[in-house]
Amino acid sequence: AVRVRFAPSPTGFLHLGGLRTALYNYIFAKKHQGSFILRLEDTDQTRLVPGAAENIEDMLEWAGVPPDESPRRGGPAGPYLQSQRLALYAQAAEALLKSGAAYLCFCSPQRLELLKKEALRNRQTPRYDNRCRSLSQAQVAQKLATDPKPAIRFRLDGEAPAFQDLVYGWNRHEVASVEGDPVILKSDGFPTYHLASVVDDHHMGISHVLRGSEWLVSTSKHLLLYQALGWQPPHFAHLPLLLNKDGSKLSKRQGDIFLEHFAATGFLPDALLDIITNCGSGFAENQMGRTLPELIAQFDLSRVTCHSALLDLEKLPEFNRLHLRRLVGDETQRCQLVGQLQALVEEAFGNQLQDREVLDPAYVERIILLRQGHICRLQDLVSPAYSYLWTRPAVGRAQLGAISEKVDIIAKRVLGLLEGPGTNLTQDVLNGELKKLSDGLEGIKHSNVMKLLRVALSGQQQGPPVAEMMVSLGPKEVRERIQKVLC
Ligand code: GLU
Repeated sequence: AVRVRFAPSPTGFLHLGGLRTALYNYIFAKKHQGSFILRLEDTDQTRLVPGAAENIEDMLEWAGVPPDESPRRGGPAGPYLQSQRLALYAQAAEALLKSGAAYLCFCSPQRLELLKKEALRNRQTPRYDNRCRSLSQAQVAQKLATDPKPAIRFRLDGEAPAFQDLVYGWNRHEVASVEGDPVILKSDGFPTYHLASVVDDHHMGISHVLRGSEWLVSTSKHLLLYQALGWQPPHFAHLPLLLNKDGSKLSKRQGDIFLEHFAATGFLPDALLDIITNCGSGFAENQMGRTLPELIAQFDLSRVTCHSALLDLEKLPEFNRLHLRRLVGDETQRCQLVGQLQALVEEAFGNQLQDREVLDPAYVERIILLRQGHICRLQDLVSPAYSYLWTRPAVGRAQLGAISEKVDIIAKRVLGLLEGPGTNLTQDVLNGELKKLSDGLEGIKHSNVMKLLRVALSGQQQGPPVAEMMVSLGPKEVRERIQKVLC
């Protein structure tokens, strides 16, 4: 059975790069009727960020790619927090010690620091000199008497194994000569990434490891660990990096790549999934507007290439507009949007809503239907340009400008328009009628008539076309606003 995992460290909130890794894992799992597992790699206790673990799980749920097994959901292979699996790592390290594949290391932090400094002084990559490898049994026994909790290092011997990555093809990375033997279990009993990752992938029955390409070079090391432990390794597929469109690094440079930010500013999860999959590979073609089920149906791991994915976030509003329109077209979803917009209006204009009718679901729904093609996010409907929809302007004659002496006649004619047989006026019809109306008023420019009406309806000098405002507000409200100007 296919079992894949997303294994972030809770050292930060979930951002687009992480979402992408999670998404590919999710899609791959669902495509093969497999399971998608969330494992939190919290072994570096000094780097934990409060709230990150909760945020990662919350945001995966929000994005619509919830794990089947996770710290919160539990599951048959739990616990899903590495800090709760210490006994498993100790057991594996013990087995490696027994077979001679690992050894105890008593080197003090000071000594390691000195080694590092010296290497850097000589412009070399810091490398552990494997000193404790050669301790005799007697020496070990003697050292244990004063240092009962040494670290455990993995002996990197022989050739690094080559492996076939499902994305990058054949790979082999020299490991032994580069950094020296790595610590796999620290003196405080916590594992390092390499051991923890291998032990967990094995015990959790992971069939495919889909992770960021920055881990490609570690894979040879992991394979040596699998070998030494006598375990069958999973398949590996490393995913190319997600970068800004100019090729710069995505994460941490801009605060606005965190999922929380997108959720709070009204972007739809589907738009994020869509833009992320459109800038990378894995599909026969790029195509805007795909939904998650379509992504699952069309995804093909063999189509993932090793080219970095360049993300152009400026296109996100366009993606959002597409998905918003799709949701508006679905009655159940539309109902939810109505509720969301009501809440947004309350929040934005709460104390100015003298008139509760603007929160009437039928009115709110009509506004969404009318404006869907013109907005990217639901939020746009509470921007200043649209405030006229929710609040009545306070306008006096003084604000009506140069032609205020003609207000009465203009207002009367507009009211006449609304009362006529075609009360259900469309924007096109209204435009024609308003033009006729100005033509019938000697010496008054059409643009001035429009200006007057715009102020009367919205209190604003600039804004949406008058006919559009009239259609959105509806005849009853237009009548009331115009009558108010008359008195
Ligand atoms: N904890 C690692 C990370 O933060 C996971 C790497 C892996 O998937 O093996 O990316």
